Amino acid sequence: MRALQIESAGVLKVKDVPVPEIDSDEVLVKVAGVGLCHSDIHVRHMPEWPIPNMTLGHETAGYVEKLGENVTEVTEGQAVLVYLVWACGVCRPCIEGRDNVCANNGGRLGMPPCPGLGPDGGMAEYMKVKARYLEPLGDLDPVTAGPLADAGLTPMHAVNGAQHRLTPGSTAVVIGLGGLGHMGLQILKATTGARIIAIDSSEQKLELARNHGADETFISDGETAAKVLALTDDYGADAVFDFVGVQPTVDLATNIIAPDGALRFVGLGEGSFTYAADALTSTLPWGVDVRRSYGGTRSDQRQVIELAKLGKISVDVKQYSLEDGIQAFDDLEAGNVPGRAVLVP
Ligand SMILES: [Zn+2]
Ligand SMILES: [Zn+2]
Repeated sequence: MRALQIESAGVLKVKDVPVPEIDSDEVLVKVAGVGLCHSDIHVRHMPEWPIPNMTLGHETAGYVEKLGENVTEVTEGQAVLVYLVWACGVCRPCIEGRDNVCANNGGRLGMPPCPGLGPDGGMAEYMKVKARYLEPLGDLDPVTAGPLADAGLTPMHAVNGAQHRLTPGSTAVVIGLGGLGHMGLQILKATTGARIIAIDSSEQKLELARNHGADETFISDGETAAKVLALTDDYGADAVFDFVGVQPTVDLATNIIAPDGALRFVGLGEGSFTYAADALTSTLPWGVDVRRSYGGTRSDQRQVIELAKLGKISVDVKQYSLEDGIQAFDDLEAGNVPGRAVLVP
C-alpha cells in the first residue's frame, strides 16, 4: 500500500509499505480521508526524529475493512473515526472520564500514544487500530470527517472546560482561525451564548470566521488588545482560546483575559508568560484559571461527532491526493490552507 512517512529527521516520503497485520483486538481501517495538522509540520522540522519510517496522520476516518477475531464493537464496512487518545481505560483518570490525561499511558508530563505521532497513523491506504479506539460516524462522510479527531476534539475539550464562563452576556475570544480555530469558533457558536471575537493575522481567515458566525473579527496587530478591552468596557474577555501559542498571541491572551476568566492555551507555538504571585505587580486579573489544554476525552469526541451529524459544525476541507501529500505540507506551512487539508488515499 502507499503511505506518507517520515523516514528520518526532515525527510518525508510517499512510498510502498506492507499492509499492516492486525491482532485479535484490532481492526484494519481502509482510510477514506486524513487531516493534516500543524503538529505534523512540527514533526517534519524536528532536528531529530526517533521513530524511523513512521506513517504520519492523527486525524483519520475510513471504513472497517477487516476485524480481528475477538472484535465485536464494529462491523465490516462501517464508517468510523479513529479516536487519537490511546489511553489505558482503567487508571483513575481514565475511569473518571479524563482519559486524555491517562496515568498509565501518559503520566505527569507525557501524553497517551497518538497514532501518527508514535504508532503508525492514517496517511496511508490502510491503518490498524484497536477496536476500542474507533467511534462510529453514522451517516457522516469519512472522506471529510477525519479532522473531527483533532481539529474538532481539541477545541471541544477546551470549550467544555470553560462552559461556566460562557453564559449569555459573556465574551469569548478565539485567537488563530486555522484548522482548530475555525472549529473552535463553530463549537462556541453551537454550544454557548457568548459573544465571539475572532482574531487572526490573515484577512482570508477572518472572512472564514465571519462566514461561521463570528460576532467581531480583528486583524492581529499592535492595537488588538486595546480593541478587545474597548469592546468589553475594559473588563476583558471571559474566555480566551489561544490556538497558536506564539509569544505575541500568549501576550495578547494574558492582556485581555477578564477577572475569573478561562485562559486556554491550545496551540504549541513555544510562547510563555510569567506569573507574579503578589498583589501589586501582577498583571493577571484575580480568579483567572489557566489550562494547558490537551486533546480531549472520549465524551468530547462523541459530542463533536453529534454536533457534526446535526450540521451545527463542519470542517472546511481542502482535499489533496495522498500522492500530493507533501505539497499539502508545503501549502499548510505557507499559510495557504483555509480550514483543514485532508489527504485522500
Ligand atoms: Zn493535531
Ligand atoms: Zn488510563
